[in-house]
Amino acid sequence: MSGNSPAKPVNDSARPVDWLLYNADWLLTCDPLMHRHSPGAIAIEASRIAAAGPSEEIRRAFRGRREADLSGCLLMPGLVNTHTHAAMTLFRGIADDIPLKQWLEGVIFPLEGHFVNPRNVYTGTLLATVEMLLGGTTTFCDGYFFEHEAARAAMDSGMRAVMGQGILDFPTPDQPDPARYLRKCETFLSDFPGDGKRVRPSLFCHAPYTCSPETLRTVKAVCRKHGILFQTHLAETAGEVDGIVGMYGRRPGEHLSGLGILDSLTLCAHSIWLTNEEILAIARSDASISHCPESAMKLASGVAAISDFLSHGARVGLGTDGSASNNDLDMFSEMDTCAKLHKVVNNDPTACPAETVLKMATLGGACAIGLGEETGSLEAGKKADIVLIDLNRAHITPLYDPVSHIVYSALRSDVKAVWVDGRQVVAHGKVLTVDQKDVLAEANRIGAIIARREF
Ligand SMILES: [Zn+2]
Repeated sequence: MSGNSPAKPVNDSARPVDWLLYNADWLLTCDPLMHRHSPGAIAIEASRIAAAGPSEEIRRAFRGRREADLSGCLLMPGLVNTHTHAAMTLFRGIADDIPLKQWLEGVIFPLEGHFVNPRNVYTGTLLATVEMLLGGTTTFCDGYFFEHEAARAAMDSGMRAVMGQGILDFPTPDQPDPARYLRKCETFLSDFPGDGKRVRPSLFCHAPYTCSPETLRTVKAVCRKHGILFQTHLAETAGEVDGIVGMYGRRPGEHLSGLGILDSLTLCAHSIWLTNEEILAIARSDASISHCPESAMKLASGVAAISDFLSHGARVGLGTDGSASNNDLDMFSEMDTCAKLHKVVNNDPTACPAETVLKMATLGGACAIGLGEETGSLEAGKKADIVLIDLNRAHITPLYDPVSHIVYSALRSDVKAVWVDGRQVVAHGKVLTVDQKDVLAEANRIGAIIARREF
């Protein structure tokens, strides 16, 4: 990833920058008009993109303190995973192929009661960041317990992240007394690690069926006071709709809307069982949804009406959900699945075309979690969150349309290098920020304890 090209002409007027990545076969900007350049180049200065565009133009204007000739490669923005519970990597594959209620109440909640502690959340989240970085994801939006520790892992990994402290109205591993949830929120925000820029705090009310109207309203008020993202699961199952209607006499989307929860800093994960009126209300409120097709498929929860959300102008991002219900954090397979799933359920091969899905996984996702000004596209002034794909692979040869390949053919193992915030964090398929061997060893140590569980 370094070394000056002998062919480059001397140009004293060129502006010096930290990195000049040039001569990539393709540069996918994923900007609002989905501009692409062939060949393309990017100039990086400190944490931001100084310029991105046609290779010759960028090379005339800039010279890099480090330069890389990217012939045979493709440059694209880092992928944005808009919904996960990163520390659940520790429960990956522990219970598959059972109904959601049994999975959640019979397996996951008891496991969390015994094994979710600060140390395990740190390790599980760090493991998730290694997986995500190697797979080209540079930003993730999280929600879990002991989220302070998860945020520390995100800081250490070098990733960009929005970290949501989980709130429920019943005892949780990090809050045995649910009456003290408000204090928990304030402590989480006041003790949040770092400067709150690359890794940002958020609050995550688990769901309208586990949080009372008062909890939802109060937590949203705290989010508004601090200008941070409010997250919740919404209408994940048909049973949830029946429960909310039974409790409050209105459907889940109407419920959130009626409580005044929906605005441009509210993210609703799943949003599957919503009527057209509820979808319209979400779109009009400027709230966002995180679409997690693989998790919903595995738990047979249903299929969100993504085409309807998009046609109403709603902001839609793509997410994996936690790796206990997916079972990976692979945004390449999530894109592929998303594009195909909506075709088959709508009996329409034009549904969710590749370009739409790539937008959801990049700029659309960044906008959905409140980071649209910072990341999600390769444009001058934005943070340098960049993924380099090796095109010299049989399964993506020949190449007619790079967007088609990224969505339908490329694999996360095609990721060769990654930059976040202008810093190279993956080179030659290896994470540079943490010791992968140590992270895997510690995760295996914890996994061995979980495997011996008796309760
Ligand atoms: Zn979730």
